[in-house]
Amino acid sequence: MKKALTVKTNSKTEFIEITRDIEEAIQSERVDDGVCMLFVPHTTAAITINESADPNVKSDILMVLNKVVPWKEAYRHLEGNSPAHIKSSIIGASEVIAVEGGRLKLGTWQGVFFCEFDGPRSRTVHIRLL
Ligand code: ZN
Repeated sequence: MKKALTVKTNSKTEFIEITRDIEEAIQSERVDDGVCMLFVPHTTAAITINESADPNVKSDILMVLNKVVPWKEAYRHLEGNSPAHIKSSIIGASEVIAVEGGRLKLGTWQGVFFCEFDGPRSRTVHIRLL
């Protein structure tokens, strides 16, 4: 299965939960067991898995990322968005999740988050179900 999810981001930097969108894409394929590969084809965005129950967790991650990678630094990249490129590499462009019974085999508190680091923009997440 080849699918792409469009994610519209609203801020310069934010995490948007996409767990439900991915599960809907998987369930329409009627695949019970397999592997779901998620890939973000952007250099200033990323994808990660973390707690979805308490929204303060994503706020805390963003707060620390913004401290570790400050906007003002002696960056050489002329586009002016080096912090976004660096955060993208720290978090990463892909995730692999087992699929069982037509659902992502996530832990109780886990959710999948699209990570915007240079928004707002319209973004893509490629989904491959094997
Ligand atoms: Zn750039």
